Amino acid sequence: MTILDIVVGIFIFVTGVCIGSFLNVVILRALSNESIIFPPSKCPKCQTPLKWWHNIPILSFIFLKGKCAFCNEKISIQYPIVELLTGYLYLIAFLKFGYTFNTLFTVAFLSLFIVISTTDIKEHVAFNIHSYILAILGIVYNFFNIGTLYQGHIWIFNTSLIASVLGLLLGACLIGIYMGIGYLLLKTMIIGPGDIFIAGALGACFGWKYILFILAGAVAIQVLAFLPIFFRKLIKKKDFITIIEFVIFTIFAIINYFIHNIPFILALTVSGLLLCKRIIDTLPENLVELNAALLNGEAEEQDLEQNELFHLPFGPALCCASLLFIFLH
Ligand SMILES: [Zn+2]
Repeated sequence: MTILDIVVGIFIFVTGVCIGSFLNVVILRALSNESIIFPPSKCPKCQTPLKWWHNIPILSFIFLKGKCAFCNEKISIQYPIVELLTGYLYLIAFLKFGYTFNTLFTVAFLSLFIVISTTDIKEHVAFNIHSYILAILGIVYNFFNIGTLYQGHIWIFNTSLIASVLGLLLGACLIGIYMGIGYLLLKTMIIGPGDIFIAGALGACFGWKYILFILAGAVAIQVLAFLPIFFRKLIKKKDFITIIEFVIFTIFAIINYFIHNIPFILALTVSGLLLCKRIIDTLPENLVELNAALLNGEAEEQDLEQNELFHLPFGPALCCASLLFIFLH
């Protein structure tokens, strides 16, 4: 690594932080349905327009001690987190892909992942416009074969455009089917319709083959994210048998990873099935009636609180899986 690389690295990090600041504006304006260009930045609480020195990424948050200079309202920790995260991801994209078009496209993908995940975590909404932009970028990326990224085998049929379009359709269809089955079985939206567009856009970026890895990875991440909620529920219900079954399953899974022999695979299967049955038992029995009551206005939204499982947004898991794929592949 030369001095020039270090200077460029610092420049890219700072650029990332500044773009992160812009992404915060994109997120805020999308959620509040305002234009990105107008009006000028203002405090979301007291609406006072900000001075330029209130708008310096990270530094302003530190010297204002996380509070609005006018009304003392707390500034969301989201702002410095998004700024730092964007800077960091831009830097590692540069370290991985160097002085190539891949770096440019990767940082564009990353920026959209950050916007999509943040709106989804904050208010459980995904804006289709962000997915459309991601899909177009993905198609352009594959059309021009910029995907020598991943050591050059992201496409099939010798035509990357086809892989990209197939990926778009496959990603969207699989999530659509998943949503349909969930609705048929549980009469509730297990994931939002916005996720269909996100998965389709990711399919356009990664192609039909790799979108399968990303969907599988996203489900794994979602399950991991669900575990703390699951355990909290079990402890609340004093259901220690399920916890013990879960621990046994995990131990079998770890042992099985090292020695693949028939008895352990059988033990893993049996403990896995028992665990599945337990998990299904923890789901509220009256989910179907509860949803009907909600629709008729006979139940309150908080009655649904026990179904936290269905309230975890799926967009961030999709974006995380994509991120891991880009950097670990
Ligand atoms: Zn204020």
